[in-house]
Amino acid sequence: MSDRSVVVTGAGSGIGRAIALHLAGHGWGVVLVDVDGAAVRGVATTVAGANRVVVGDVAVRPTHARAAAEAAQLGALSGWVNCAGITIRQHLHQLDESVVARLVGVNQLGTLWGTSQAISSFVDGRRAGAVVNISSVHGQRAYPEYGIYEMTKAAIDALTRSAAASYGDRGIRVNSVAPGAVVTPALERSFESAPVPAAARRDLESRNPLRRLAQPAEVAAVVEFLLSPSAGYINGATIAVDGGWGILLGRDSDDPQTRRTEGGSR
Ligand code: NAD
Repeated sequence: MSDRSVVVTGAGSGIGRAIALHLAGHGWGVVLVDVDGAAVRGVATTVAGANRVVVGDVAVRPTHARAAAEAAQLGALSGWVNCAGITIRQHLHQLDESVVARLVGVNQLGTLWGTSQAISSFVDGRRAGAVVNISSVHGQRAYPEYGIYEMTKAAIDALTRSAAASYGDRGIRVNSVAPGAVVTPALERSFESAPVPAAARRDLESRNPLRRLAQPAEVAAVVEFLLSPSAGYINGATIAVDGGWGILLGRDSDDPQTRRTEGGSR
């Protein structure tokens, strides 16, 4: 038994995997949830400390009840991270209904069911608790052809604010983390879809003020902070972990022919 337990969805890969490993390293008993059984069982073998695995689809509500029940076996359930998500690019004028339903089901409803289950468990146990939802820079900014994904991520930020406003008086905090481009299997697959993957990666790096992509551990560290008492007065916030990508208006092109040296005023 640990003192406290946390549920992490999407723990079989990428950011969710890093969060599960990081939280275990900080003494949390971790329930790893993922639809990919082989992947999540593999991650669980590398977790230092008490853990349980739940193989299930976050779009289906009972998956979350199973995760909460497993967490109660590990320690007092007091944290929940909704990280499972999928990214699919689609043209708005050529929407595939089943793809839209999948994106909404996994990203939006999956986060809703998880947040709802976490809060129910905290309220029933008369315990304080914290939820962190993984949104994205896409929740607040637009990038062509990511409209449905962006709709689901904006919904996650809205849900986060509503839950924070509704349950703060019971000691329950709800925040979201909005990563920029993070090196994960999903992003690597996206690069592989370009004619020259290395060029696609360099292009994305060049758009960021830090001129690099994030590592999953850099997101995990912020999630751990938001779950901890050190973040006790942060509630309803969306914290960007994007290297400053979202605040960037633009920058001069690398082409010296276009470089303006003056602001223009006399
Ligand atoms: P990933 O594909 O590497 O990992 C996602 C994990 O979620 C996988 O193990 C997958 O099996 C699991 N999963 C997918 N659908 C599921 C379902 N229905 N039920 C349970 N598990 C499911 O992806 P990632 O890049 O680590 O992304 C994780 C989260 O971070 C997503 O919500 C994504 O939108 C968000 N995000 C990622 C980036 C990035 O650049 N990688 C940026 C911003 C936000």
